[in-house]
Amino acid sequence: MSVLLPASRAEVLAILAGHPEAVPIAGGTDLLVHWPAQVERHDRAYVDLSGVADLGPLRWTDDALVLGARTTYWDVIQDRRAAIEFPLLVAAAREVGAVQIQARGTWAGNIVNASPAADGVPALMAYGAVVVLQSLAGTDEVSLDRFYTGYKQMRRRPDQLVTAIRVPRAARDVQAFEKVGTRRAQAIAKVGLAVTRESGTWRVVAWSVAPTVRRCPAVERLLADGMPIGGPWDLLPAIDQDVTPIDDVRSTAEYRRHTLARVLHHTLRDHWGRA
Ligand SMILES: Cc1cc2nc3c(=O)[nH]c(=O)nc-3n(C[C@H](O)[C@H](O)[C@H](O)COP(=O)(O)OP(=O)(O)OC[C@H]3O[C@@H](n4cnc5c(N)ncnc54)[C@H](O)[C@@H]3O)c2cc1C
Repeated sequence: MSVLLPASRAEVLAILAGHPEAVPIAGGTDLLVHWPAQVERHDRAYVDLSGVADLGPLRWTDDALVLGARTTYWDVIQDRRAAIEFPLLVAAAREVGAVQIQARGTWAGNIVNASPAADGVPALMAYGAVVVLQSLAGTDEVSLDRFYTGYKQMRRRPDQLVTAIRVPRAARDVQAFEKVGTRRAQAIAKVGLAVTRESGTWRVVAWSVAPTVRRCPAVERLLADGMPIGGPWDLLPAIDQDVTPIDDVRSTAEYRRHTLARVLHHTLRDHWGRA
């Protein structure tokens, strides 16, 4: 195994262009847990991003919050404006592992690790975040809700580094984030729901109920139509169009399906008197 320590963004991009098999490493909180198993699979070149200063900080522009490749959950938790403008990001950050993981783990790592149970991705997706990918060939931007193409599959070439995640600033009159786990902390989601509404447009994002974190277009249409919702059961036909939960060690498909309907119903009722 080798670890490369570039000092600039240009150096990282040059390494990835010359060695597409090289693996970027940010906080290492996803990569390192797998190392003790299948040691030979991890005998590769790693590109450590920790020495590249300009990939780190989060910044505010007139129309967006921009997270860097090395921006951690803790960076967002500590940012007072984030708590006001993007409470779902702070809620998601506080759900990730414990404080040690929040201090090391990055938003970019959460996106590229592509777990269907990732907690950072859904909050970003509910805000319409855009993934900025850079390589020596240029810069691409992909809306996060179009980024994943299947389980652990995404619109990122091996020579591309996620250099930023742009989260658009906007007035939102609905913002909710609910994670259902075995316990209050240090749990992987059995089911999750993030919801926003912006100028009448709903974004409903579900996780741990499909091969990827995903938006729920049928549920979004139902909410936009403004039909009365009598109970969780009224949401099930739309939910069944949007998600494909499975049985696994954490839960069953049926539990996930019904819990998603209940959590969505409660969220609509409790926060906005809808349903
Ligand atoms: C104890 C523990 C608890 C956890 N709890 C949770 C939890 O509750 N919720 C949750 O969502 N996750 C959890 N995680 C998983 C992990 O912490 C997060 O997914 C974290 O965001 C990963 O970020 P990282 O910087 O550590 O990624 P890394 O491990 O450094 O990298 C992860 C992947 O992203 C790639 N990558 C990293 N940065 C870039 C980049 N800029 N461009 C391209 N590719 C990149 C890497 O090559 C790798 O494939 C937990 C992990 C541990 C060990």
